[in-house]
Amino acid sequence: MSDKRDYYEVLGVDRSADEAAIKKAYRKKAMEYHPDRYKGPKEEAEEKFKELNEAYSVLSDSNLRTRYDRFGHQGLDPRVRASAHNANPFDFVSQIFGMDFGDIFGGFGGQSRRSRGPTRGRDAVLEVYLTYEEAYSGVSKKITIPFKQGCKTCHGTGAEPGSEMSTCANCRGSGRVERRVQTGIFIQVSQEQCSKCRGTGQIPKKKCKKCKGSGYSSEKEKISVKIPPGVNEGEMVRVQGKGHPSRNGGTPGDLILRIGLKEHDYFQRDGLDVHMLLPIPFDVAALGGEIEVPVIGPPDEERFEKMKVPKGTQVFDTLVLKNKGFVRSYNGRDATGNMYYKVTIEVPHKLNKKQIKALKDYRDAS
Ligand SMILES: [Zn+2]
Ligand SMILES: [Zn+2]
Repeated sequence: MSDKRDYYEVLGVDRSADEAAIKKAYRKKAMEYHPDRYKGPKEEAEEKFKELNEAYSVLSDSNLRTRYDRFGHQGLDPRVRASAHNANPFDFVSQIFGMDFGDIFGGFGGQSRRSRGPTRGRDAVLEVYLTYEEAYSGVSKKITIPFKQGCKTCHGTGAEPGSEMSTCANCRGSGRVERRVQTGIFIQVSQEQCSKCRGTGQIPKKKCKKCKGSGYSSEKEKISVKIPPGVNEGEMVRVQGKGHPSRNGGTPGDLILRIGLKEHDYFQRDGLDVHMLLPIPFDVAALGGEIEVPVIGPPDEERFEKMKVPKGTQVFDTLVLKNKGFVRSYNGRDATGNMYYKVTIEVPHKLNKKQIKALKDYRDAS
């Protein structure tokens, strides 16, 4: 643990920095370490991101910050550090963008999480795997949202609409409770969100009848999401308002679909281009000719195109069909990839008498 960097150093702020300065520094650094912007290796960006988030999650929480100021890294429950450190960095990315949207549009996202006002729910990231053909033509994916939805009657607060609120007895209104964990001869004390009031410090006098006070709806929501044609691995599709619900009446987070591609039997994608290993009969390779080759296309439709094979084509030569790869629209303009065929030579398993004679004649003539 001694090689851990100082949290203030990680964020690049003074020890006296206030909440706003810490948040500003965090956001600036987070942008810098965004995997799409970071100049160095991806793993490095991820590590920096994790370190940054750990530092921020401690320094942005006044209780944890006080402990850290007094006792350093040793003063924190290892689990607090681990959970901050191991969270999915892509979640952070979306959290940051969520925050930015909030600031620009005056939403709830920009508020500090210690504030008592409604806070925006967290964004959720789901992986969606498409076949090459689905990615080619674009697809409408039905998604059953796998996490709890906010109760529409009480907007996640668990309070019957119009009910008065009283101070939570469990945390005496602070929203946080101490947790003591004995490890060996030490007792570690950490602060965590009060589970009775979910960190709000308030408890409704009347529970919401619809959700019995849980704040969650029991129905699973099914939605249909349009994924654009030409989409590639690693791209994100954002669905507004379908992320985690707010727990105190704020707007829900967004659902972010991270696209993955299933392996294809014979195609390999590279950007908008498609590569494949193509067996060509040895006589066509030697004499030249025209053959039909598979090209990428929509699902349930095997597409073929005619392609010229020049005479004397060799193993591992590459033949190209221009503009037959993936098509992607960028700002209303289409970009199209190519199909690349790497040649292998097909040797017949069986020959008839006439063919054998022809080949022997060929050998004799060489
Ligand atoms: Zn409810
Ligand atoms: Zn409480």
